Parts: sequence; structure tokens; C-alpha cells
Amino acid sequence: MKKKSIQSMTAEKILSSEDFQRCIGFHGHICPGLAIGFQAARVLMRWIGVERSPDEELVATVETDACGADAIQVMTGCTFGKGNFIFKNHGKHAFSLSDRKQGKTVRVCLRPDALPNHSQHLSLFEKVRNEQATAEEIKLFKQLREERLQNILDAEPESLFTIEEISADIPPQARITESEVCERCGEPTMINHLQKVEAQNVCIPCARRLFESKPR
Ligand SMILES: [Zn+2]
Ligand SMILES: [Zn+2]
Repeated sequence: MKKKSIQSMTAEKILSSEDFQRCIGFHGHICPGLAIGFQAARVLMRWIGVERSPDEELVATVETDACGADAIQVMTGCTFGKGNFIFKNHGKHAFSLSDRKQGKTVRVCLRPDALPNHSQHLSLFEKVRNEQATAEEIKLFKQLREERLQNILDAEPESLFTIEEISADIPPQARITESEVCERCGEPTMINHLQKVEAQNVCIPCARRLFESKPR
């Protein structure tokens, strides 16, 4: 798979761009993780050859619940509430984008050597979080964090990730939204989330409670 690389943008340019500002607005703060997600989204959209998804023709999959996932939602237009944003809890800076029309999926994963000073940054982060860092260490941590952000945004986006086209099961677009009342708690529940337990149609938490209360 060959593609012309993304036109490089300096960190300064990205920081003042409307796209990145929208990511910060949605996420609530600026951080290196958000920048990783931003760059990942640029690569994915470039390789798939699409613009932002107004409806459901794109599907994004994130393998982390860290900051970067928010930039993916803003940039691709795939959101949790639209059902075209899938979370797999793998703890990796890995993101995929599928286009239903083309039946094509591209996955990117942050390279292990993408960012310098990673171990130092991590050990300091641990100290800062546990409130064991000295004033000096806090200062150094902030400096490293700032450097990381700059490095990510200044990098050629494609140099940060391994990029591959993968075959993925793209989930169907149609979702059943009709609801029926759970026969135990009385709460309206999507019918495809109801299950039959002891001749009653019950929701997932009620089914769990029923199983747990059974003598073993
Ligand atoms: Zn963040
Ligand atoms: Zn229920």
C-alpha cells in the first residue's frame, strides 16, 4: 500500500488549527495523548481517503480508553452515541478506521520508538501522580510532557505509527432501537438486549441478579 505522505504541518500550525482546537474543546485539556490521537486520525483518514463522517459510513475502532480516543471521535466524526465508535480494551495506542462503502479498514499503532524519553516520562508520571515528586521533578515532568507534545505534533504523522490495511468485520449499520419493558424491573429495554429467564423477558442486570440469587 503506497500513499503520498500527509503534508507536514508544524506543531505551531496544528496548535492553532480549528481541528486541533475542537479536539481540545471536546477532551477538556491539551496533552500528548490527544496529539497522538489527532495524528492517528490524520493518517487513517488520509489512507482511507475520506473526510469526516457526518453519518455512519465510517467506523472507528480504538484499542485504548486513553486521551487519544477523544481526538479520534472529533476528527473522524465516529462517536460512541452513533454506534460507529468501537472500544476494544487492549491498552494499546492503536486505532482503526473502516469505510463501509469501500469495505476497507486501515489500522495504525504507535511505534515503540516513536517518542524519546518515554521511560523517564513514565516514571516521573508515576511519582507525580502519587504525590511523591519534588518540585524539581514536577518541573522536569512538565518539561518532558511539553517536549512530547511538540515532538508528536512536529513529526511526520506517518513516521509515528505502523500502518496496515487489515481485514475487519465491519459491524452492520442497522441497529434495533425498539424497546420493551423488562418484566422484572419495568424499565424499557432494547428488545435485542432482553433475555428469557424463567419464562420472563428480563434485562441484563436483572438476569444477572436472578442467576446470582440462585442457590448453587
Ligand atoms: Zn488528555
Ligand atoms: Zn430489568
